[in-house]
Amino acid sequence: MESSFIWLGNHAALDFMNTKLIRKGRLCDLLRSFEDVEAWLKEAGFLHRIEGLDELNDSEKDAVHGETLEVRSLLERALPHLTEGERIEPAWTEEINRLLRTRPGFIYLQPDGKSVRAEMHYPARNIAGLFLELATGLLTAPDPGKIKKCSNTKCILHFYDNSRNGSRRWCDVSQCGNRVKVNLHYHRKKAAKRD
Ligand SMILES: [Zn+2]
Repeated sequence: MESSFIWLGNHAALDFMNTKLIRKGRLCDLLRSFEDVEAWLKEAGFLHRIEGLDELNDSEKDAVHGETLEVRSLLERALPHLTEGERIEPAWTEEINRLLRTRPGFIYLQPDGKSVRAEMHYPARNIAGLFLELATGLLTAPDPGKIKKCSNTKCILHFYDNSRNGSRRWCDVSQCGNRVKVNLHYHRKKAAKRD
């Protein structure tokens, strides 16, 4: 099956945010259930960092799904501040801190050839902790100015602009870039006819 998720954010937190998007003019949520969250984690390459997935019962799955959406909407509140280079409210970071306290993970060591790799793992009921970790990674990114929203006003996707001269404007040039150009061209032609 072809993936319905979007992986153009250059940052896992932005790919996570991009699970909410506009498709054919309508707001669309790709995380409608716990299974969607699990599928996203799998495609993002994070599933091995979640322990005890099989042991979750239905109400725990619902809780995990709800908390995942809560983290996403918290990030959604911060994003406009980040893209506009504004100050983040302390109340907002406190909210994240409160959740981080209740959804802890632990460092897991994995031998990797001659060295050892360390990464955070989470009990399945604390999946929100992993999303909080992603959010934290975005907030503490070395260059917040690179967090951008697609220039298409009809698109709500975000990305981390890794281009050498910081000139990326579109989530996807072939999608939004071209569409806006075609539209401008059309309106210019129309205007020219009127003159
Ligand atoms: Zn776009």
